[in-house]
Amino acid sequence: MKRIAILGSTGSIGTQALNVIRRHSDLYSVEVLCAGSNATLLIEQAKEFSPNAVVIADESKYETVKEELADTDVKVYAGEKAICSIMEMSSIDMVLSAIVGVAGLRPTMAALENGKPVALANKETMVVAGALVTAASARHRVPILPVDSEHSAIFQCLVGEVSPVDKILLTASGGPFRGKKKEDLLQVTPEQALKHPNWHMGPKVTIDSATLMNKGLEVIEAKWLFGVDANDIEVLVHPQSVMHSAVQFADGSIKAQMGVPTMETPIQYALSFPEHIESYLPRLDLTKYAGLTFEQPDKSTFRCLDLAYEAIKRGGNVPCAMNAANEVAVQLFIKGKLRFLEIADYIEKSMQEVPYIANPTLDDLFLTDKNVRNQ
Ligand code: NDP
Repeated sequence: MKRIAILGSTGSIGTQALNVIRRHSDLYSVEVLCAGSNATLLIEQAKEFSPNAVVIADESKYETVKEELADTDVKVYAGEKAICSIMEMSSIDMVLSAIVGVAGLRPTMAALENGKPVALANKETMVVAGALVTAASARHRVPILPVDSEHSAIFQCLVGEVSPVDKILLTASGGPFRGKKKEDLLQVTPEQALKHPNWHMGPKVTIDSATLMNKGLEVIEAKWLFGVDANDIEVLVHPQSVMHSAVQFADGSIKAQMGVPTMETPIQYALSFPEHIESYLPRLDLTKYAGLTFEQPDKSTFRCLDLAYEAIKRGGNVPCAMNAANEVAVQLFIKGKLRFLEIADYIEKSMQEVPYIANPTLDDLFLTDKNVRNQ
């Protein structure tokens, strides 16, 4: 039995991970659940899965959670620090990192520092601190298993390979505004941007998909996870979202991974690696796809993708500044305080103005994050 700690259990990835665990209760149990502020759902999850402990980041919700779970054996903690310290629990076998944004960085580092294998959904962790996170994984000899469907696909293509990668083909759905030009995007609303054609995800990653910043974040995540140069990662728009990504080798051979567009498959594979275990999800019926199409991304309309390439080329704390500006810009856009096309302008300005640090420590990165947000 593998005992799992889920960081971000109340979110889109967290709830889908619980679906996987519910179906495979003979293989997995829930040891810890951590949420941000959704006390109602956390309590419901705790009553169903009987974890050893739950943590709610929002300390004002502590009493509610404590009272509701008073009749159970579940230990209740609150606050961001408690999420990190709970990673010391020896009974945790694996941590699913699925908090959204840079808030996931400290808990993910704490998991690695405590020798826990990490199933990583929280891409912002890699974007902000890829060098430090991969170093911690190597130092403690614990794996980081990708959950993001594209990275899971690349990871699966590389299983058993000994040859170096020539190129990674990272697929993108193109989001809800694929094919639109700048003039079409002047007045788009958050409601329109939140309607993703293929995936049901949390609001932040859905807006990131609409701007193509999600793909930019994934390029940086892939660079760190697979040790490839960002110039060797090519983004391909594939609107059907059934080929989840591919790897090209020196002889021109391309290996791709395919499946129905659901996050439950890559979540399950991260938990079950190196095995592919039974899944009750529908199978991909290729006869239903008259054509699988691939096209170049429109980088001049969706400028965030090139900003991410620029950030990783400059390195240091620039990806951190880019990520912080993006997190703020996305929230402002959702609140109707920033227009869609201004998101890229806002990020570009923050990247230009950030005082450069070539080899930032974790503290430098948190300071960069804070300063960019304050600006
Ligand atoms: P959601 O917004 O649906 O969920 C986010 C989770 O993080 C919630 O459980 C939330 O808690 C929790 N959370 C937020 N802030 C804090 C905090 N300060 N401390 C502790 N917990 C916090 O996001 P998603 O599940 O969509 O995405 C999670 C991560 O996975 C992101 O990095 C995303 O890019 C990545 N990802 C998501 C995919 C998807 O299909 N959804 C696909 C691939 C990657 P609460 O709700 O209780 O406030």
